[in-house]
Amino acid sequence: MIRLISVLVVVFSNLFTYGQPEKIPLEQFVGYYDVGVKPNSPFFKSRWYLREGKLYTIYDSDQDRLFEPYENGVFKSHIVFDENDLPAVKDDTTYYLVLNFQADKLQSFKVIRPRSEWPTDLYGYRNEKLSRLALDTEFELTEYHKTGHFTIRYSLQDNNLVGHIGKSLESRYNGLLKDFKMDTLPVTRINIYPDLGTYHNAVLTPGAPSWQMGRVWDKNDIRMLSPATAKEITGEEMDLNELVLHEFVHSLHLNLIKDGTRVPGWFWEGLALYKGCCQWTESPFELDYIKKKKYPALSKIEKDRTSQMKYDLGFYILEFIDKKYGWDKILELIQSNGDIKLSLGLTARQFEKELYQYLQVEYAK
Ligand SMILES: [Zn+2]
Repeated sequence: MIRLISVLVVVFSNLFTYGQPEKIPLEQFVGYYDVGVKPNSPFFKSRWYLREGKLYTIYDSDQDRLFEPYENGVFKSHIVFDENDLPAVKDDTTYYLVLNFQADKLQSFKVIRPRSEWPTDLYGYRNEKLSRLALDTEFELTEYHKTGHFTIRYSLQDNNLVGHIGKSLESRYNGLLKDFKMDTLPVTRINIYPDLGTYHNAVLTPGAPSWQMGRVWDKNDIRMLSPATAKEITGEEMDLNELVLHEFVHSLHLNLIKDGTRVPGWFWEGLALYKGCCQWTESPFELDYIKKKKYPALSKIEKDRTSQMKYDLGFYILEFIDKKYGWDKILELIQSNGDIKLSLGLTARQFEKELYQYLQVEYAK
C-alpha cells in the first residue's frame, strides 16, 4: 500500500517567489491523474477536486488534503512551472511541486519529495477520460454518527442503519483488541457512500467490478458502499455489520504492521474472513477445484488473477492454523507477514500438505 503523507503540506523555507504568470483558476487543477514514482509508469491514481470552492487532492490510501497553491495572490515558493526554477539545494522538509499546464488544464505534475522521508518523487499525468469524475465524493455524506470508538459519515438514505453498525462494532471492539493484544487504537472513521459509482470514485477505482463494496482505506479509515444499495445490486440481504467487521479486522491488521507492508493475499483476506467475517461457504468442498482434489499451492492462491481463491480459501487456511497451531501463531504470522517457515517452521509444501489433510478430515463428507 502506498502511503503518501502530506504530499502538499506547506512548509515555507523561504518566501521568495519566482516570476509568476497570472493566477490560474483552481478549476484548471481539477482532474484525475495517473501517478507513479518514475516518469511515465503510473500505477495508482490521484483525484483533484473542488469542495466548497477549495481545491483538495487525494492519493491512494491517503486522506483528502486541502491544497492551497496561492498565497497573497501568487504561487507559493515551492510551486513552479519549470524545475530549473527550484533551488539546487532543496529543503528537506519541503514538498516541491512542478506544474505543467496546457490548454487551460493541468496536464502533468511532479512532486519532489524530501529525501529524508522518501526515496522517490511522484509523477502525475492527467487522465482525461476519468477527469469528469474528479468530484467531491463526500458531498452527500451529510450525516454523522459517533460511538465510543467509531465515527460514521453517511448519506440520508442510510439513516436507519448506522445505529446498528455502531452498536455491533462496539460490541466486538474490546474482544477483538484483546485477541490482537492491542491496548488502544485511534478512533476509526467509516464513510458509507450511497451508490457504487461514488464509492468506487472515493477509493480511486472508477469502473471497478460491482463486487467491490468495501475497503480499509488507511489504517483507521474504512470506506464502503451503502448496505441498502449493496442489497439492490446483489439481490441478497447484505449484512452491513458483517461487511464492516471484516474491514475493521483489516484495519486492526494494518495497525500491527509497518506502513507499506504488502501482506500475502491468503493471509490478508484469511485473517479478516476468519476473525471478522465471513465464512462464505459451509465447506471448502463446495468449491469445484477442491472437490476435484486440485489443491492449490499458496503460491498459486497468491498468483490467482481473479483474486477469488484467497476469498474462497482464506477462512479455512486461518482456521487450520488456529486449530492446529493456536491463535498465538497467527499473531506471530502477523509479525512475520505470513512467513510460514519463520513462524511455523514448515516449508510451503509441508504446510499445504497439512492444510489439505485437515480440510479433508474436517470437511470432506
Ligand atoms: Zn477483505
